[in-house]
Amino acid sequence: MSKEYDVVVIGAGPAGYVAAIRCAQLGLKTFCVDRFKGKDGKQALGGTCLNIGCIPSKALLDSTKHYHHMNHEYASHGISFDDAKIDVPTMIGRKDRIVKQLTGGIAQLFKANKVEAAFGSGKLLKDNVVEITTEEETYTVKGKHVILASGSVPISIPNVEIDNEHILDNAGGLDVNAVPEKLGVIGAGVIGLELGSVWNRLGSEVTVFEAMDTFLGACDQGMAKMAHREFKKQGLDIHLSTFVKSAEIKDGKVEVVSEKNGEKTTTVFDKLLVAVGRRAETEGLLSDDCGVKLTDRGQIEVDDQCRTSVPNVWGIGDAVRGPMLAHKGSEEGVAVAARITGGHGHVDFNTIPWVIYTEPEIAWVGKTEEQLKEAGVDYKVGSFPFAANGRALAMNSTTGMVKILADAETDELLGAHILHAHASDLLQEVVVAMEFKGCAEDLASIVHGHPTLSEAVFEAAMNVDKKAIHRAN
Ligand code: FAD
Ligand code: NAD
Repeated sequence: MSKEYDVVVIGAGPAGYVAAIRCAQLGLKTFCVDRFKGKDGKQALGGTCLNIGCIPSKALLDSTKHYHHMNHEYASHGISFDDAKIDVPTMIGRKDRIVKQLTGGIAQLFKANKVEAAFGSGKLLKDNVVEITTEEETYTVKGKHVILASGSVPISIPNVEIDNEHILDNAGGLDVNAVPEKLGVIGAGVIGLELGSVWNRLGSEVTVFEAMDTFLGACDQGMAKMAHREFKKQGLDIHLSTFVKSAEIKDGKVEVVSEKNGEKTTTVFDKLLVAVGRRAETEGLLSDDCGVKLTDRGQIEVDDQCRTSVPNVWGIGDAVRGPMLAHKGSEEGVAVAARITGGHGHVDFNTIPWVIYTEPEIAWVGKTEEQLKEAGVDYKVGSFPFAANGRALAMNSTTGMVKILADAETDELLGAHILHAHASDLLQEVVVAMEFKGCAEDLASIVHGHPTLSEAVFEAAMNVDKKAIHRAN
């Protein structure tokens, strides 16, 4: 006989663990199974995000930012030193400790909220029964509701075989123990730029191959062009319209054959990072007769409420449609828990913030200018450069600008795009304003502390109606 729960969650990434905690908080008897093994071979909750994604990549970005600033920024403050050194194993060790602290924290939160956690692989059978396979045994549990939160895995490409020593995937790219002299990166997407920046800052010669002819196609193109110039200045050698055909390990090096306009080039690297996107993980998740349908892209098919094709079986996070972002998955988890208990859950994809944690960071919410033009929306633009912001000048951090897009007639905020070292934190006030259906004038009427970087957002909002104080309108 299967043990019975109100909710069984498969996957303990930011979608699954948040869903499990919220379900338990709402009084539901909750079970959560995950099969991820940490570096010590033991269960590590938190999924891709905490173990091999958001958190470890930000830890490395932070360490290398300090190193980069020592070498390139501090002199202007009058701070000098003889010889900045980087000890990569110490840097990686710091990252590993942060990961362990956070994943251990999820285990404690599960205990505190009385979520029953299991280590193993979960497979949905029919009638909401989930089969759990561990190294020792196989057993079943049954949920009145089942939440599928199995996340995503890196996409692989033909003729490029990952060994995570020379040719690295997302996880391998976070665990390099010495600075590679030459690093190749396939994909100028979020991971390629973030991890490419990590190693570039430590002195690697980084070459990025990008198949598309547009740099960061999902970004507002004005911002993407500015960011591209900054990355070039930093030494990231980005080749657009360049398709990698193959990579081969020869004498401890990686030989990459790429093609641009029909012309083939061979380049040799010490390491190659493959960052060409991720796909929904459904391996071993669904029995043939469980009834859950997949889309033609291999994602779990769900409606706008995260319902799958089977009653009381839900799908959330990277495994379903929508942006592959930790906070999107978490919000879906919270929304599903609310729906299960008869409440209302709502995730507005239009107000999900996006951030690329390079330096400068690129952060945005809502629509780009390109999207508004394509949709035929009449809009107004307000902008403000950080070069005219007192705090940015005091910080010697003047690269970038804020751009705010508002409806030409109603003034409703339609989008915001920020390029700056602290763009991620600055964006959030616009996210709040958009969530409350605010307009540019609302942002322009709120008192902003002085001197703060947030005054650039304030001034950009004023510039929407050409009333900025500290720039010519
Ligand atoms: P996951 O985090 O992938 O978790 C799914 C879990 O389910 C995993 O632990 C997996 O082992 C487990 N699982 C799968 N199948 C089964 C099964 N059958 N049985 C048991 N367990 C199973 N997003 C951001 O928002 N901000 C960032 O800064 C950011 N940085 C990133 C950096 C990198 C290098 C990478 C790779 C990703 C990054 N992401 C970032 C994306 C983010 O990690 C994902 O969007 C997020 O982890 C998705 O959450 P999830 O819970 O849906 O899936
Ligand atoms: P991505 O989709 O951001 O970028 C992949 C890039 O690889 C694309 O630009 C694509 O055109 C290119 N590409 C694909 N095949 C290629 C080939 N053969 N040769 C050259 N270029 C090729 O994917 P990613 O960077 O792997 O990230 C995966 C997901 O993880 C993203 O969807 C993102 O949402 C998430 N993520 C988010 C963050 C963040 O929020 N800061 C950080 C890292 C990852």
